[in-house]
Order: sequence, then C-alpha cells, then structure tokens
Amino acid sequence: MASLLDFNTNLSQITGETTLLYKDIARNVEKTKRIKIIDFGIGQPDIVTFKRIRDAAKEALDQGFTFYTSAFGIEELREKIAQYLNTRYGIDVKKDEVIITPGAKPALFLSFILYINPGDEILLPDPSFYSYAEVVKLLGGKPVYTNLKWSREEGFFIDVDDLQSKISSKTKMIVFNNPHNPTGTLFSPNDVKKVIDIARENKIILLSDEIYDNFVYEGKMKSTLEDADWRDYLIYVNGFSKTFSMTGWRLGYIVARRDVIQKMGVLAANIYTAPTSFVQKAALKAFDTFDEVNEMVKLFKRRRDVMYNELSKIKGIQVSKPNGAFYMFPNVREILDVSKLDVKSLAIKLIEEKGVVTIPGEVFPLNIGKDFIRLSFAVNEEVIREGVQKIKEFVEEMMKP
Ligand code: PMP
Repeated sequence: MASLLDFNTNLSQITGETTLLYKDIARNVEKTKRIKIIDFGIGQPDIVTFKRIRDAAKEALDQGFTFYTSAFGIEELREKIAQYLNTRYGIDVKKDEVIITPGAKPALFLSFILYINPGDEILLPDPSFYSYAEVVKLLGGKPVYTNLKWSREEGFFIDVDDLQSKISSKTKMIVFNNPHNPTGTLFSPNDVKKVIDIARENKIILLSDEIYDNFVYEGKMKSTLEDADWRDYLIYVNGFSKTFSMTGWRLGYIVARRDVIQKMGVLAANIYTAPTSFVQKAALKAFDTFDEVNEMVKLFKRRRDVMYNELSKIKGIQVSKPNGAFYMFPNVREILDVSKLDVKSLAIKLIEEKGVVTIPGEVFPLNIGKDFIRLSFAVNEEVIREGVQKIKEFVEEMMKP
C-alpha cells in the first residue's frame, strides 16, 4: 500500500539548493546579529516596472479584461512578439509560432516535458542556471554537463570539442543560455554558430534561453533564431522579467515550429490554463518602453564597471569583465586554498561576518562553480562600493597566514 510519504521518486535527486536559500540565511543573520545586509545574490533588476506598463495593466483591469485567455496567449501579443523578433533579427517568425507562458521558467518546463523520456540525456553547460538540471531530473532525464572554459583574460567560452564529445545516442537536447547566468558571458557569434551547427548536424533539439538578450554591454548578441533552419531544431525561450523589469508579473514566451507550439498549448491548457490576462495586455505596451530599457542598461553598464574595478583590486580574487546579463563570476580558488574552506562555507561565512550575500558557484550546479562565487550588480553604485569594500576586508582576514 502506498504511504503518505511516497513522493515521486525522482524528487529524491533534487537538491532544493536555490539562490533564495542564501537570502534566507542573510535574513536570519540580520535579525540575530543586527548586521546590515548587502545583497549581491539578487537575480532581478532593482527598477520598478516602467510606468507605461503599469498604467496599461490598470487600464486592462478597469476595462474588465479579467477572464481566461487562450492557452497560447492573446493574439495581439503573439503578433507583437513575432514582429519584435523579426525587426530585431531580420527573420520571419509567424504569430502561431509563438506561445505566451507565465514566465520563462514555465516556458522551460513545458519544453522539457514535451521532449524528455526517462533516461534521455540533456546536455547542460557547467556552470548553468540551477533550475535546468533540477527539472530534467524531475522528469527522469539525465543531465550531462559540458564544460565552459575560463581564463581571467578571456572570461568564459564554449569548449566545442568537449560539447561534441558529450553527445551520445541518448542525447535529446542541448540547453544553451546566452547571455549566460551565472557568468555574465555574452558568447561570440562564432561560438553561437558552432552550437547551432552541432545541434543541427546531430539532429538534437537546441533549447535556447535568451532571457538576458537586452543586457549587452559590449559585442554583438547573436540569436539562435537567426539561423535560416531554426524551425528544424530550435526551441527559443525568452520573457519579460529581465528586459522590462517585470519579474513579479510572470510572463515569458516560446518560439518554435508551429506543430511544436500546438503541443505546448495542449500542455499549457492542462497545467495552468493560460497566462494572466491583464498582464498580457500590459506587456503589449512593454514594446513601447525601449527608451527606458536602454537607460536601465546604461545604468547597469556603469554598475558593472564599478564592481569590476573594485573587485579587481582585491588580492586573491580573479575576475573577468562580463559583457552581458548582470552577473560577475569571480574565481576565488586562492582564498579557498588558503582558508581551507569550500565555496559554500565561504559564502555563508561572508554573510555571517560581513552581511554580504553572494551565491556560491556550486549552486550552478557541478564542478566548475566550486571555484567561483556569483555576484549580481543589479544594485546601486554606493551599495556596490560598500559591499565590495566589505568583501575586501573579509578576504584580507581570510588570507592572513
Ligand atoms: N532563465 C534564466 C537564465 C534566468 O536567470 C531566469 C531568472 N533568474 C529565468 C530563466 C527565469 O525567468 P522568469 O522570471 O521569466 O521565469
């Protein structure tokens, strides 16, 4: 007989280790030790959603736009997203090749459900956004990691030979994320092309998460959608959370071949019915706010420069300048070696002693992260200076012989 604790057996593989955990530790330290918390753990822009979008949501509510929509989302928004991508990348996405979802995470979830059979291998970058591996395991799939390479001068880049060597007869999907969380890397157009070629040549689905595509500071953002044959293999995921600072609104989307989108719609209808109605109306206005978006990105670029300059001065930390997203992923191996701590204990000690929240690279989730910590620069400049100063003091104490 089944017991009340007979959970889905795949759950036993899920670590539950997310970035939010470190914020919880900080809350506790703030309360018990009364230390001021500086939060570099945060994964969202700190700007309140732009006024024009907020007004549009209020208007939609006042007009009574409060009912279920189609599982695919409202036609106007599907059309608007297709137009936006077509103008930006010179392509020809059609509105029925777009489905609106309640965030990029649900978009990823639908994509994984649609393809994963137990035992299927899913190629993930190491390091990568923690939730990919967790959902793959939940569905009985097997994450297989392909290393990103790192050097202080060049930052992170794709090891194409390693990626190629990890492909087996069981490989179902390659997950790609550009600009990249947690490293802040904007992969070169050449690297993007190599990943596309590997997916196409091996007839493997490429799930491309491009949610940070507007946070680009230097270099050219090449989208996987720019490939002429994208319909043959691509599932493209994006959302409103980061670009329009709409994390709490929960809205994302998928672009894929029409028949794939049809199947996504069936899943959506069964899982959550439809994305929130008035939020979709508000999102129509989001595409009129690129002046605000550009201002925000300029502000983030200045913050990045401040954080990079200040972190670079700390002996024991090796940091590369990220070209995208809003994360920095410095190497702290020297500090770990001297202090004999692992990266998780180091991050916890930094919260407990200085009130500075960073995310240990281990969360992302395999080997490479064990030498790194992630810091978000989605906080104001003064806070960045104050926080990095505290990290400097902390590191000096840790490195004392
Ligand atoms: N993909 C990546 C790489 C992310 O960093 C995040 C948010 N941290 C998401 C997806 C989820 O975005 P959303 O808020 O739209 O669910």
